[in-house]
Amino acid sequence: MRTIIGLDELRAARLSFNGTVGLVPTMGYLHEGHLSLIRRAKAECDNVVVTIFVNPTQFAPTEDLSKYPRDLERDLSLIEPLGVDLVWNPTPEIMYPTGYQTWVEVEAMTRPLEGSMRPTHFKGVTTVVAKLFNTVQPHKAYFGQKDAQQAAVIRQMTRDLNFPIEIIVCPTVREADGLAMSSRNKYLEGKDRAAAPVLFRALSAAKTVYEGGERDAETLRRKMKEVLDGEPRAQTQYVSCADYDTLEELDVIKGKTLLSMAVLLGKTRLIDNFVLG
Ligand code: AMP
Repeated sequence: MRTIIGLDELRAARLSFNGTVGLVPTMGYLHEGHLSLIRRAKAECDNVVVTIFVNPTQFAPTEDLSKYPRDLERDLSLIEPLGVDLVWNPTPEIMYPTGYQTWVEVEAMTRPLEGSMRPTHFKGVTTVVAKLFNTVQPHKAYFGQKDAQQAAVIRQMTRDLNFPIEIIVCPTVREADGLAMSSRNKYLEGKDRAAAPVLFRALSAAKTVYEGGERDAETLRRKMKEVLDGEPRAQTQYVSCADYDTLEELDVIKGKTLLSMAVLLGKTRLIDNFVLG
């Protein structure tokens, strides 16, 4: 496994690959969720590239960029046994040199949900992913359902910009108590960690109502809110029952549907979702 920083080296390595290339973009501090994406890429592609880059442009000035957890050595030791061919770990200066001024922006579907709380976030995500796509030129790219809006936005960008890349969205990997794995879970302490499975419980409760035949979206949103309100430590930012592809809030559930939520536990912000239908 090679670890590369510079663009020229990356391009040379890309040229040396034979067969299909799978890309797994990450911000590092890897956990089983990331590793599940890498295993899937390995099973489906001849060559696998993992990128580790804490992308500054997707963090607002008030957010946790400098505190975002990092441990490259640990990450490399987790990736190595999986048979990854290449790890690309560029610096912010390589991705955004002085004078940088080009951005990729997806419009309507980046405004609700995460976009309503983090208005500049997706512009940073789509820009960096477009740059990774252009540089690595993968055949397939792997993302987690955990970040449902991100996956939907990247599918849209890939279609809109004619990237010849198949976007594969992999299931959310969870802890035994239902908490979705996340690099930020490291910041959950004591009682907040104990309270964190409330997101999974709220989603499960709404899913049970749906499976009982309920198709009124507001009833499902109310159900999720009711369960979250039962946990005094949880501060709900939003609950949503939206169309899976457009992310528009629904009145009546018909096709594939995304239940999602963002919740503050202490200072830690957690997101989670289920797909229905
Ligand atoms: P991040 O390092 O948080 O930017 O995540 C990198 C990729 O891993 C993204 O596509 C995430 O959606 C995915 N991912 C993060 N957590 C999980 C999880 N618990 N299960 C599955 N995929 C995940």
